[in-house]
Amino acid sequence: MIQESYSKNRSLKEVSIETDLLIVGGGLSGTCAAITAARQGVKVVLVQDRPVLGGNASSEVRLWALGATSHMGNNNRWSRETGVTGEILEENLYRNKEGNALIFDTILIEKVKQEENITLLLNTSAFEVAHENTSIQAVKAFNSQNSTLYTLSAKRFCDASGDGVLSFLAGASFRMGAETIEEFGEKMAPNVEQYGELLGHTIYFYTKDTGKPVNFTPPAYALKDITELPRFKNIQADHTGCNYWWIEYGGRFDTIHETENIKYELWKIVYGIWNYIKNSGKFPEAENMTLEWVGTVPGKRESRRFEGLYMMKQQDVIEQRKFDDAIAHGGWALDLHPSDGVYSSLPSCTQWHSKGTYQIPLSTAISRDIDNLYFAGRLISVSHVAFGSTRVMLTSAVAAEGTAVAAAYSIKNDVLPKDTVEKEHIEKIQQALLEKSSYIPHLKLDKSNFLSAKAKVTVSSELNLAELRPSNTWKTLQMPTAQMLPITSDQKTLELRVPIIAGKETTVDVELKVSLDATNFTPEKVVGIQSKEIEKGHQFVDLKFDVSDLEDRYVFVCFAPNPDLQLNYSEDRITGILSVFRKENKAVSNFGQQEPPSDIGIDAFEFWTPQRRPEGQNITMQLQTPLFIGKKEHLDSGIIRPVTSTNAWIAALDDAYPTLTLEWENVEEISSMKLYFDADLDHAMESTQFGHPESIVPYCVESFRIKDENGKCLFQTENNHTTLCEITFDQPVKTSKLTVEFDRKDSRIPVSLFDVICD
Ligand SMILES: Cc1cc2nc3c(=O)[nH]c(=O)nc-3n(C[C@H](O)[C@H](O)[C@H](O)COP(=O)(O)OP(=O)(O)OC[C@H]3O[C@@H](n4cnc5c(N)ncnc54)[C@H](O)[C@@H]3O)c2cc1C
Repeated sequence: MIQESYSKNRSLKEVSIETDLLIVGGGLSGTCAAITAARQGVKVVLVQDRPVLGGNASSEVRLWALGATSHMGNNNRWSRETGVTGEILEENLYRNKEGNALIFDTILIEKVKQEENITLLLNTSAFEVAHENTSIQAVKAFNSQNSTLYTLSAKRFCDASGDGVLSFLAGASFRMGAETIEEFGEKMAPNVEQYGELLGHTIYFYTKDTGKPVNFTPPAYALKDITELPRFKNIQADHTGCNYWWIEYGGRFDTIHETENIKYELWKIVYGIWNYIKNSGKFPEAENMTLEWVGTVPGKRESRRFEGLYMMKQQDVIEQRKFDDAIAHGGWALDLHPSDGVYSSLPSCTQWHSKGTYQIPLSTAISRDIDNLYFAGRLISVSHVAFGSTRVMLTSAVAAEGTAVAAAYSIKNDVLPKDTVEKEHIEKIQQALLEKSSYIPHLKLDKSNFLSAKAKVTVSSELNLAELRPSNTWKTLQMPTAQMLPITSDQKTLELRVPIIAGKETTVDVELKVSLDATNFTPEKVVGIQSKEIEKGHQFVDLKFDVSDLEDRYVFVCFAPNPDLQLNYSEDRITGILSVFRKENKAVSNFGQQEPPSDIGIDAFEFWTPQRRPEGQNITMQLQTPLFIGKKEHLDSGIIRPVTSTNAWIAALDDAYPTLTLEWENVEEISSMKLYFDADLDHAMESTQFGHPESIVPYCVESFRIKDENGKCLFQTENNHTTLCEITFDQPVKTSKLTVEFDRKDSRIPVSLFDVICD
């Protein structure tokens, strides 16, 4: 028993921890940064004031994490985030394709707890910063669950807390609100009077059908008059969670210090909406439905943005400007919302896309005035307009990963953060990121120092694509439809034979289109036109395009809509081969094409986007000059996703036992291998609610074995489901030859591999 008499001077239990990197905030950015830094070999303390990780992506808030793929509604093909962020998404797909936010929580906690280098402090709120001149010494944090006061000192600090509590208390320069047009020449800068200058908070709710009638008596504070919400006609009984992203409020207030008041207003609106659904008589389908969950923590969109060595702006995103210190990519639209939110009569968001992905530089993550402070998440150094794009969670998370590698480098090499943007350092940081499968547009992994670079590589077969084979599926050519094909600069013509059924005598109109920038996937320039008159009935249409002037790149074979024509769709699913359609995806402001006002610094272009599986088949065709899209030399590209070519070794369609062999002149000692598979980086893996058709994407090799020169099996797996499969042998293997035997899982899906590294 503990019994204490009156004491005048009691104090909290105190614990001091010294670490290499202290990260405040365990949203997706802080979490991915912590895992990344830990894997780079530095000690990390991750402080998160909530009981779970994930921030807005957690079960406490339940936003689906999005990024460059933009729900597959823009032209950013194969742009899904990789690295730790991708690993988490791919694991979440594997275990949780239905998108249960609670399962997503468990994955984040598991991934963090598996890292020996991370000390995770949940329920722990950072509230005080000790700093001397321009350097942070320590952070104080309190955990109300174990009633402990922590003093956390570190060599480097990373603020991933959303509102930026650490940077604010450390005295770092920040902004809150919108820049004027004049400051950076950003033509999208909002009119502050009419539009406001901050995005607001949101609270979501989930409902469920109980199978029997349920009454609802609203709390006294619920909104009484639903017509106060200009969008009340959009309310639907079957909408839930993220569908209600427009329940936004607070952008006219101080979104930090007024948060509790904003929360009450949001609860008022949520319960008012549910009262309307249950009791207005307009939604009989809701009779058996009950409220299953209402958020208690508002999802915050915007507050402080801190000033780094560089501040990104609209033009960097739209013009896809290049940076020497690029560490990540983004691709979400510039997405601003009126500050009056749910009470505004204006459209709930203004979204303008760029023609492709853009780079994010490290200098946005390094404080310009505090020597040992990094930024991660929505608070990085970007203008209000650029924040409209960089803030989404998968983009924030990959930028945070880049920052974590830079922080680990800075600690291990004793280089100040601001100096790591210099060429001699940044190139090493970039290479470390690429090796871990991260994507930085326009950069390649230099593999010359790996053991695999010395090996002779042989493969059992290589795909020379002569046909996308026919199936029984015929579909009317109702909308503009295109097949994407990669061509090489040595190719003179593209000759296709396409099976078509015509309901009557008619014309087939086809354009060959390309992006102006070969690394984009926005078909904007017509480089060939074919118009063929055809008879009624089943026939083949021959198309021939001159491509002799084109460099290595994707071309779009675009069929004009014609209700009298049907195209056949193949069941062959091949890495780097996609069909796209000029269709709408209003959820991301894709209305078939982007037509901005002339004076806002945004490009007009068409959207050509894929269909989600089980749709999304390729157009059946024969390629008179086969496309050598699966050559093993692609394993040397240093890029692990399709860009201007498939960048993958792809086995032949009839190769039932694909193998890849690495052979050295002498016996080598091999400690580890990395294989980079095709986990379909075009598929947007929304983390929550959305749901996906499969747990492992069709293209991804699930089962393979690695054998040594004597045929001894060194490693095998039957459930690979990730882009990067990293194998560390218990003991270094001594051999002059490694053979990887892949199991093909479907004769319509050839085995493929982007890269292999041995070390
Ligand atoms: C309603 C809404 C819809 C959105 N839609 C999408 C979408 O569909 N997809 C998408 O990707 N993005 C979306 N966003 C944007 C995105 O959610 C945010 O920009 C993103 O969460 C920012 O990530 P972050 O890690 O910086 O912040 P957060 O996710 O907020 O994480 C910060 C974490 O730090 C913790 N923290 C704060 N203070 C302290 C402290 N003192 N000590 C310790 N920990 C602290 C917080 O509890 C939080 O968990 C939306 C945002 C909102 C609000």
